[in-house]
Amino acid sequence: MPVLPPGVSAAQFDAAVARFQSVVGNDWVFPTDADANLYRDAYTPFANEDEEYIPSGGIGPASVEEVQEIVQIANEFRIPLWPVSTGRNLGYGGAAPRMSGTMVLDLKRMNRVLEVDDTLAYAIVEPGVSYFEMFRYLRENGHRLWVDCADPGWGSVIGNALEHGVGHSPHRDHFDSHCGMELVLANGELMRTGMGALPDSPSWATFKYGFGPHISPMFGQSNFGIVTKMGMWLMPEPEASRNYLVSVPRDADLVPFVDTLSDLANRDVLHSSWSLGSPLMQSQVPEIRELVQANASTEILEAAGAGANVGYWGTRLRFYGAPEVIEAQWAYAQRRFLEAVPGAMFEDGYAYTFPVDPDTVEEPADDLFARAAIGIPNMAIFTFGGAARRPGHIFFSPIIPMSGRELVRAQGVFTQAYRDLGMNPPAAIGGWSWYKRNLVLLFNMPVSRDPEENRQMRANYRALVRVAAENGWGEYRTAPAFMDDIMAELSFGDNALRRFHETVKDAVDPNSILAPGKSGIWGQRYRRVQG
Ligand code: ADP
Repeated sequence: MPVLPPGVSAAQFDAAVARFQSVVGNDWVFPTDADANLYRDAYTPFANEDEEYIPSGGIGPASVEEVQEIVQIANEFRIPLWPVSTGRNLGYGGAAPRMSGTMVLDLKRMNRVLEVDDTLAYAIVEPGVSYFEMFRYLRENGHRLWVDCADPGWGSVIGNALEHGVGHSPHRDHFDSHCGMELVLANGELMRTGMGALPDSPSWATFKYGFGPHISPMFGQSNFGIVTKMGMWLMPEPEASRNYLVSVPRDADLVPFVDTLSDLANRDVLHSSWSLGSPLMQSQVPEIRELVQANASTEILEAAGAGANVGYWGTRLRFYGAPEVIEAQWAYAQRRFLEAVPGAMFEDGYAYTFPVDPDTVEEPADDLFARAAIGIPNMAIFTFGGAARRPGHIFFSPIIPMSGRELVRAQGVFTQAYRDLGMNPPAAIGGWSWYKRNLVLLFNMPVSRDPEENRQMRANYRALVRVAAENGWGEYRTAPAFMDDIMAELSFGDNALRRFHETVKDAVDPNSILAPGKSGIWGQRYRRVQG
């Protein structure tokens, strides 16, 4: 017996399933427990607990018209739908909904690349197009264009962008790279945003704003509509890409180091994402490793690092374009680093000249993101950490302004918070530069199969959300288990923003059909039950 949506009887559910079957065919409605299990979150923080959000099943439409019909039936029978594109959102909830009994609207079958424009460097795609499929399509059809891919290549261009997902090349901010959407609304209407609203406009995937209020962003991380097409700006294949390692010797160099990185990004000298880590704390040099494990003082560690040319803080910077431009940018960047931190150290990374053969391109062991950063989707991320990661994790991902002072403040706050919660703080808290002017901090919170451990983890996660909010930091994304918590912290004006979302939600989706609880937004039908 499937887990039914709140207030829906087994007979009503069966009647709805029969109607869904009449639209998509019997093979494409998945209403049994066994089917629903496939849509559960492999990284759930509720394993073996009644609180786990379990879908009532899934439906796999093949066309926009079928999606429209499904939405009409869902309204009639009050069956909530959780749209997913490929449903691979691991670490942030997988394919599972926020509310048990919600049916997963699985858009994987709608996987056509509808248009690619070489001059304007964009594609228009359907939701089921994965990064692997997009990459293959571009190659097989001779387009010298890259799609910036998420770390696991099995994810979808649309789903990842809607979740504000990220990559490594200059087009790393995937939502920022999109232009124009087509949506099925909760009342079954079909709408296009931006210049897509002008029938047959050639500017649909080139001019984001259209005319009047620019509403596409309202459909990212939201439950206001089902995206059935999206324009995506692509990156013309550059002549070359090079990457270089930069490090600074002392812990105290962090502030000028980050401020210089920030400034270089604001001047468009750095175009790609970089992540800040501690080569010293992660060093494999045996003497240094021993000191790190023995919790040696900063001075002793720095001295050991200086002896082995290992920096306290470091990053890999990726450049793209004509070789002579890259050289000039790198020379300028080096000068700026040396001005800010006299002991800054530099090392050549990898160099690529395009096109490369994706099957034989070098896969460096020390750069997990090397292929993704040159537009080649892959699954290397799953080799990271190996068995230690199982059975999974949820990311706690606060976002802070990209300044050295703010990073140092965050390091202090989260190190103390970890200790207060009885957890081991990460040895070195760095950050990711996916979004312009910001750093995302990424804390891996392991999930377990043991309910007690998970209860503790959830309490810790919520405590971290609270601590972050007290310091003015929110999270860029989260798993369904914590969406209410994060939305509740956006409390300015007595939670005016959430009230605005709810007002919109009730207006465009009066029966609360679409993704109840997504991002902490509940329609009126469920607000009192769940909110
Ligand atoms: P991935 O690309 O990682 O497989 P998913 O398909 O799991 O991503 O999508 C991530 C989340 O984005 C979903 O849980 C859902 O909330 C939202 N989403 C994905 N696709 C759509 C869509 N076509 N319309 C509306 N929301 C979507």
